[in-house]
Amino acid sequence: MSVLDKFLKYVSFETTALEGSDTAASNPLIYHLAQEMLLELQALNPNEISINRFGVVDAKFYGDPSLPPIALLAHMDTSGACSGKDVKARIVKYDGTPVKLQEGMYLSEKEFPFLKESLGHEIIVTDGNTLLGGDDKAGMAIIMEALEDIVKNNVNHRTLEIIFTTDEEIGLDAKHISREIVTSEYGYTIDGGDYRFVSIESFSAYSMEVEVKGRSIHPGYSKDKMVNASNVLIRFHQALPEFLRPEHTDQKEPFYHLSNIQSCEDHAKGDYIIRSFEDAQALQLIELAKLTARRINDDIGYEAITLLFENQYHNMKVELDKHPEIQKEYEGVYAKLGIPFMYEAIRGGTTGSQLSFMGLPTPNLGTGDYNMHGRYEYVDIDQMKVMVSVVRELMLA
Ligand SMILES: [Zn+2]
Repeated sequence: MSVLDKFLKYVSFETTALEGSDTAASNPLIYHLAQEMLLELQALNPNEISINRFGVVDAKFYGDPSLPPIALLAHMDTSGACSGKDVKARIVKYDGTPVKLQEGMYLSEKEFPFLKESLGHEIIVTDGNTLLGGDDKAGMAIIMEALEDIVKNNVNHRTLEIIFTTDEEIGLDAKHISREIVTSEYGYTIDGGDYRFVSIESFSAYSMEVEVKGRSIHPGYSKDKMVNASNVLIRFHQALPEFLRPEHTDQKEPFYHLSNIQSCEDHAKGDYIIRSFEDAQALQLIELAKLTARRINDDIGYEAITLLFENQYHNMKVELDKHPEIQKEYEGVYAKLGIPFMYEAIRGGTTGSQLSFMGLPTPNLGTGDYNMHGRYEYVDIDQMKVMVSVVRELMLA
């Protein structure tokens, strides 16, 4: 089976991540693909293989003990932002003209300029009704293709640990990994984006829950008495810097993002995420939010607003900078294959953002998957093939 056949098989599985759980994968359908991967890996005679209750599959192939063992990771779940049911993948040779996905829906360079890079390549597109699932089934196909080649042809390799994770899209994948089982010294996630991208930086991420206790009085008799919780939440929101929102920020700029509101006169709740590449800066944003809440509370005359912060993950660069040998390794591989890689600071988190702080430094490498999480998603088959050679080389390094 080629990397393309593998990819088409994996995207035929519906694996949408749903609401998180402490005891199981978020969607029982994910286990079907996990079982498939267990079988495919077993067929390659691993020295150790396991699956845990979250559906995370971990297979080890012992190799040259003089080289550090590495993990290669990809996630099996897909984003809940768009349906992943009955994905109808279609292969198109991209010739520069807009690709029709369905009536009135086109994939074009005008909207997606990076499509230029795929000129003359075969790309895989959707029928416009679902996402494709290349995030991260492209990563899975790339890893399996490289591994199969090495194992079937008896090529000497280092000790390899293949980990297919669950619930990455809802930020739970690192929590689902049984850290005791992982024996590698470091890892690589193969997940999404331009195939030349190497990511060693991610956001430092915090959640902020804003709780407002109002004072509800009959609106006809509430003069100088009512404290409308909805209005307090709006006031708090507007007091935060307007231009530090995702829609106004780019590259390494930080933001506050309001993701959800529930409110009435008596009670209001706003869910925010705070993102920055510098932990110190994220902490300053937290301090500013606290100060804002305090001032409003002082003005109202009681503790109407309370804030709850939680760290979600850190910028993995902090940990990766301690391991120049990893950088040397992937730089060597790209140089050997003549691929001009680029560093990309991810305005998000990866599995590595958490794993790197759990003792498994893990940069991310791109796959050739674009426009993820939606109907315009596509995978460049030629770019995926280049990544097979990169991953294969890493397995030997
Ligand atoms: Zn992904």
